[in-house]
Amino acid sequence: MQGSKLGVQAAAQELLKFIHRAPSPFHVVAECRSLLLQSGFEELKEAEHWDIQPQRKYFLTRNYSTLIAFAVGGQYQPGNGFSLVGAHTDSPCLRVKRRSRRGQAGTVQVGVETYGGGIWSTWFDRDLTVAGRVIVKDPATGRLEQRLVRVERPVLRIPHLAIHLQRGMNESFGPNTEHHLIPILATTVQEELEKETLEAGAPCAASIQERHGPVLLSLLCSQLGVKPEQIVELELCLADTQPGTLGGAFDEFIFSPRLDNLHSCYCALQALIDSCTGPGALAQEPNVRMVALYDNEEVGSESAAGAESLLTELVLRRVAASPQNPTAFEEAVAKSYMISADMAHAVHPNYMDKHEENHRPAFHKGPVIKVNSNQRYASTAVTEAVIREVAGRVDVPLQEFMVRNDVPCGTTIGPILSSRLGLRVLDLGCPQLAMHSVREMTCTSGVLQSIALFKGFFELFPAVNRSLVID
Ligand code: ZN
Repeated sequence: MQGSKLGVQAAAQELLKFIHRAPSPFHVVAECRSLLLQSGFEELKEAEHWDIQPQRKYFLTRNYSTLIAFAVGGQYQPGNGFSLVGAHTDSPCLRVKRRSRRGQAGTVQVGVETYGGGIWSTWFDRDLTVAGRVIVKDPATGRLEQRLVRVERPVLRIPHLAIHLQRGMNESFGPNTEHHLIPILATTVQEELEKETLEAGAPCAASIQERHGPVLLSLLCSQLGVKPEQIVELELCLADTQPGTLGGAFDEFIFSPRLDNLHSCYCALQALIDSCTGPGALAQEPNVRMVALYDNEEVGSESAAGAESLLTELVLRRVAASPQNPTAFEEAVAKSYMISADMAHAVHPNYMDKHEENHRPAFHKGPVIKVNSNQRYASTAVTEAVIREVAGRVDVPLQEFMVRNDVPCGTTIGPILSSRLGLRVLDLGCPQLAMHSVREMTCTSGVLQSIALFKGFFELFPAVNRSLVID
């Protein structure tokens, strides 16, 4: 499955649009939600009763940063399996502190906290902005509502210190994450001149105006059309304003923020939508096709919306629940399979020795099966055999990655879900470079390859599973 160059590039452009519209996990969920609603998925609420029917499509969100979407097969019976693809909505970034008001040397700065394991030096000299969610109080009704917010302009900057003032920086540049990553929003001189235009209001103890500076609040208020005193709380990520782009002499690369892991989120969701669009698409399907996109993977998944939470089990139990079959959930788990989709490390031409020579994933050569005997990845010979069978039938090439014994191994949501649920899991993802940089790099081919593989998995897994004669 190679696809024409134009088709490959068009798919990559769609991914870039998705990533650009999704500068925070809340925006990722909003973007997925709108794609799902457009494709005929119905929204469920965890707090309400569900009436799940065959041949129907549903989704739910938790914390508005995690999303689970599923389509029920026409032949589905309680106790049948789940065909799952999982990924994560969060990426390493800087986040605005709860008390962000600060500044030195005549500057207005914004206090930030590091989220996840970013390559923080890459956040210097970028045209940054803020995006996330704000809890707003309606003065008339007293209702507290979540509003997504995003400032479209480059309003923040973390400038490098000139090399003249740190001669050794090319030998080792490791910024102190408390002192050196504080972005500049304005100067106090200009702030004073603009005072009339700032809708800051009078600060009182512990109010939002006391905790955050008037310049930041004013930016948010003008985006949201609210008064500063209506803002009760905020959760904001910093993001690079420069949109992603195709690149390289032949436009064969993607240069973009958050490829880890919005690449996998986008491809998984698109594959689910494609696999159940069109008349009769779900008619013969015995399983539930499901995509689960979790928050907080970059910080270990231990949160109410993370892969460590009970969310997945609760959702699977509710879908499988049946008065006629009290062990439907337990039977379903044994028939289920999850692809834990997360990006993989392509071999870097300038650092060849970081990859063992037999395990060097390269661009264009297909998604990468990730294996680790020490269970940092959850793949097993059985789950690998299943995906090889699917990939062969839909003509998508695959590569293999195992980390060197003397290099630490990353991990994913795969081992978490595999061990919590006793689920068969495969770890797999497209090769990329510069993982956790503010601007990462991958190849264009991975988008269509992943969509084709995940769609093939949804359509073929029940039949492949029936051909397995292993416990
Ligand atoms: Zn990741």
